[in-house]
Amino acid sequence: MQPVVLERDQHGISRRQISENALKVLYRLNKAGFEAYLVGGGVRDLLLGRQPKDFDIATNATPEQVKQLFSNCRLVGRRFRLAHVLFGRDVIEVATFRGHHHQVNTNKHISAQSSEGMLLRDNVYGTIEEDAERRDFTVNALYYNIADFSVLGFAGGLKDLEARRLELIGDPETRYREDPVRMLRAVRFSAKLDLAISPRTEAPIQSLAPLLSDIPPARLFEETLKLFLAGQGQETYRQMQHYGLFAPLFPETAEVMGRGHNRYGRFIELALANTDERIAQDLRVTPAFLYAALLWGPVETRTQEFVNDGGLGYYDAFMLAADEVISRQVKTVAIPRRFSSVVRDIWQLQERLPKRAGKRPYRLLEHPKFRAGYDFLLLRAELDPRLKELAEWWTDFQAANPVDRQQLARTADDQENGDAEPGPRPPRKRPRRRPRRRKET
Ligand code: ATP
Ligand code: MG
Repeated sequence: MQPVVLERDQHGISRRQISENALKVLYRLNKAGFEAYLVGGGVRDLLLGRQPKDFDIATNATPEQVKQLFSNCRLVGRRFRLAHVLFGRDVIEVATFRGHHHQVNTNKHISAQSSEGMLLRDNVYGTIEEDAERRDFTVNALYYNIADFSVLGFAGGLKDLEARRLELIGDPETRYREDPVRMLRAVRFSAKLDLAISPRTEAPIQSLAPLLSDIPPARLFEETLKLFLAGQGQETYRQMQHYGLFAPLFPETAEVMGRGHNRYGRFIELALANTDERIAQDLRVTPAFLYAALLWGPVETRTQEFVNDGGLGYYDAFMLAADEVISRQVKTVAIPRRFSSVVRDIWQLQERLPKRAGKRPYRLLEHPKFRAGYDFLLLRAELDPRLKELAEWWTDFQAANPVDRQQLARTADDQENGDAEPGPRPPRKRPRRRPRRRKET
């Protein structure tokens, strides 16, 4: 593990590109006599001429020593102990060099591995060479030294970066077993940075993909956000499908699609293309919209099944399906409640938007999630021509002045009373209104 060294005049990284807070941490560590490097994605992205998402730091100071240097420091993580140095909302992650496991494997508080070879704890400290070896990809084993502004590239990382090649360090199968999330990271970096996954790095993915079901749902939630909400969601999704990485995360969606409902795959791609576009335009994206799209296939399918086989009314079938799909999904990928409630809102609006009689359209406009529900309808309409009229009606209704709105509401009234329903779903027979309770006297 001898690094290739680029001296300060042999690479394009300048301190102006590094965040002030990261520099502060680097300098303070260095002044206190520790080694301090910017590491991983920060160095990789700067060498690629991109703006890094965050700046991570590696040092030979232990987490406790880091804590002593910074009053604004918090130690986090059991599986992988780290120091977080806090500057308001900006968090600089400081990791101590990781060492090899074999010498100290007896103490499971320091390091531990499951019977499948998964790393449960990784808190053995070591040298920079050992630290580099423990990183996932060669292009992530890059270190920018604050002492002399040189870049150290381990394991052929600099060469691979130049060749735009994504290469796992060490034996791929062992490394994926240690941490199956590395398979997701492979497709994420490949899609985001336009790197080709090397043949030996991609070879075991398909057969090891099922190991992802052993990863805690909360960690997978964080990973899916990085996979789908980082600007290259559609491409990432395609690669996940290609490598068999989608089904372990979204088993019900995969199952519905496997039964020949390919339109749901197209729908997810459309939703992701739309999300990518919004990110490119610096518009806000919410995980709820994404999850509503990812799980729309199972929800629609289950609803139909409950109606056809269970004899339930549409509304009850739908509510039951939504509950069931969400409660099954959170067993593999968590969905925090603040998002899952919005997912439900978006779905429920799909049921309400076709109903445009009387004051309803005005009330729906006031719904806090109307916009997300409407956007979702637009997406659905792109794949289902029967929804075009409805989608356009809502577009017009929003843009119209009060007089035109009244006119639009009347035409919708006529349609609902007259010919077939606007959407593919049967309208409810009578408005669901709670019976007014009599005042007891
Ligand atoms: P980005 O921040 O753009 O998502 P990154 O490469 O910085 O990409 P982080 O998750 O921020 O990714 O991790 C920082 C560094 O830590 C990585 O570059 C890599 O060297 C190392 N690393 C992260 N996760 C793993 C892992 N699961 N296995 C091995 N090394 C990892
Ligand atoms: Mg990073």
